[in-house]
Amino acid sequence: MNTVQIGGLVSFTTIDFPGKLAAVLFFVGCPLRCAYCSNPHLIKPGVGEYDPDKVLDWLKTRQGKLEGVVFSGGEALMQGPAVIDYMRSVRDMGFAIGLHTNGFYPDMLAAAADLIDWIGLDYKATKTNYERLTGINVAYDQMIKSLDVWAKTKKPAEVRVTCDPRYVSPDDLLQIAQDVAARGIKNFAVQRYIPHFEEGENKTNPEMRNAFFDNDKLRGKIDALFETVAWRD
Ligand code: SF4
Repeated sequence: MNTVQIGGLVSFTTIDFPGKLAAVLFFVGCPLRCAYCSNPHLIKPGVGEYDPDKVLDWLKTRQGKLEGVVFSGGEALMQGPAVIDYMRSVRDMGFAIGLHTNGFYPDMLAAAADLIDWIGLDYKATKTNYERLTGINVAYDQMIKSLDVWAKTKKPAEVRVTCDPRYVSPDDLLQIAQDVAARGIKNFAVQRYIPHFEEGENKTNPEMRNAFFDNDKLRGKIDALFETVAWRD
């Protein structure tokens, strides 16, 4: 098995894999360059500081205590077939597999779909703003392909939008929600944008950031589209 590069590990979480007690593994490397990235140390491909075999040994000690393992990043699928092999090893230990993904690798997602129980997919903006936010011109189209790959599996997913008002408007949010619902996804999440790295004149303010959450009409319309909507205010 080729080696995967793991740059971080959370040993216990109740919030990153719905309904499961889980650990989270953060894989090194991401093809996108999102303006608000909160894991910039994981973007550049490189050597992870966690030995993958030792992580598997540690997971053995968690059998019967944890129910799932979340593959996060960075973008775990950037590591190619090696990460699929690693998922299989984790799954063979009896853990459910969750994946947090930006959707950039639809073919990899299709190849790994049988091993994955749930995904959290980032739908970052409308197509118009995707390149400006992520720095990559094909990122939107790749994400939509991934969304459709996963929707076909009929397995559970959460599609989430981080509401950075520099790239997403309340109207955009509704448009995204309608698109996601039309593709058969049942669970949606709206996440407050937290400004960590803003510079220069293009700064947000609390009123701009609250506009998504203080708008009862918008909330009602979005809530009506899905079985669940998490408003992470
Ligand atoms: S997809 Fe995630 S990890 Fe990659 S640059 Fe964007 S926010 Fe950062």
